[in-house]
Amino acid sequence: MPTDPLNVLIVGAGIGGLQAALALATDGHQITVFESAKAFENVGAGIRVPPSSSRLSQAWGVDFSQVKQEVSRGNRFVDWKGKHLLDVPFFDVRDRYGAPYYFIHRADLVNLLVKTAEQKPNVTIRLNSRVVSYNFEEPSLELGSGEVVAGDVIIVADGIKSSVRDVINGRPLAPQDTGDVAYRILVPAQPLLDDPNMAHLVKNPWAVHWMGPEGHAVGYPLRGGELYNIIIDVTHASDLGEPISNDEQIWKSARSNAELVERFKDWCPEVRRLCAMTGDYLKWKLADFDQLDNWVHPSGKVALLGDACHPMMPYMAQGAAQASEDAATLAAALREGSSIPEALKIYESQRKPRTTYIARNTRVLQDWLHVYDGPARDARDKMMQFDNERNPIF
Ligand code: FAD
Repeated sequence: MPTDPLNVLIVGAGIGGLQAALALATDGHQITVFESAKAFENVGAGIRVPPSSSRLSQAWGVDFSQVKQEVSRGNRFVDWKGKHLLDVPFFDVRDRYGAPYYFIHRADLVNLLVKTAEQKPNVTIRLNSRVVSYNFEEPSLELGSGEVVAGDVIIVADGIKSSVRDVINGRPLAPQDTGDVAYRILVPAQPLLDDPNMAHLVKNPWAVHWMGPEGHAVGYPLRGGELYNIIIDVTHASDLGEPISNDEQIWKSARSNAELVERFKDWCPEVRRLCAMTGDYLKWKLADFDQLDNWVHPSGKVALLGDACHPMMPYMAQGAAQASEDAATLAAALREGSSIPEALKIYESQRKPRTTYIARNTRVLQDWLHVYDGPARDARDKMMQFDNERNPIF
């Protein structure tokens, strides 16, 4: 769009909103990000940043060497009794895709995105600024303080509990319970390094997936081997912990490790050891939905981005990465569209099919990762071992 820089208002400074700010600021637009939180919390577990996302971030000025990241060697799949099934190595990822696949502490990633944004003169991040209402026709938003801020276009990246999604979509669509809960755990890596049977998990940065009936665990090292990140996903039906009520859905709570130790008592020694090391952790109900009818308000001036429009199960480690692609596509559409409404239409039409496809595939993986012992599992394992022979571990 051959135009003067746009005044863009972004709601939410999660990973999605921050990436949108960086992408649009790189094109010279004037960006204000409104975040309801008073500060960026220094908490969270690990996040995997695939090259599709890291390459875009680099183009927006993000310098990953400023944080202690790990470059992933690939995905390793092991059954619940410890039998190795498949390695999918990432040794050529940097050459093939132009950027590495990283493991990063979430707080480090958010801080890095914030720091990069703050270095851009055309980005302002306003904390403690909850958006309470919108004018969709002549784009403006009202903050809890009563202040009204006007812009040319509003990008709503307010997460899975988006307050305005139903209005933009044109009908209510609540995220649905996927049937699974996720435990997100961070442990110090030193005890693992001190154990000859466990040290390889920290020294070799693979994302190891242990797969068993109605549950799986994923582990990978963080912060240059200081921490080990563990995500455990189980079905509600097989979860031995206190059930989480619907009100608690996706919100966190700290509990003891007894339920995990009991739940995984028959699994291989590596998983049992990781469960025994666990202290407090975050427990979430995993929710998603298939797809929205509309990502853009009929006014053509307000659009959704990130988990607000495509929450998905974390089984492909793609939620935040898809928000990077949203941000890049949005920036390109604003360059190419003849007007803001046309640009937002292009953005939606290019992003919806891909995010829907990926979200549906995470549901397929849910069955595949949690299969019971028996014929279905034998077929899965046979397929994985066949792949392993074609694609041997280096
Ligand atoms: P959010 O992170 O929810 O941010 C929304 C922001 O909006 C928040 O800061 C909130 O405070 C703010 N906000 C809300 N309402 C308002 C308001 N009215 N006014 C102002 N501000 C407001 N993705 C990956 O790519 N790789 C992974 O390895 C990965 N692992 C995952 C593991 C688990 C267990 C889970 C659950 C998810 C994982 N994801 C992963 C997905 C990823 O975490 C999300 O897709 C991503 O964080 C979504 O970012 P977002 O900015 O869209 O939403």
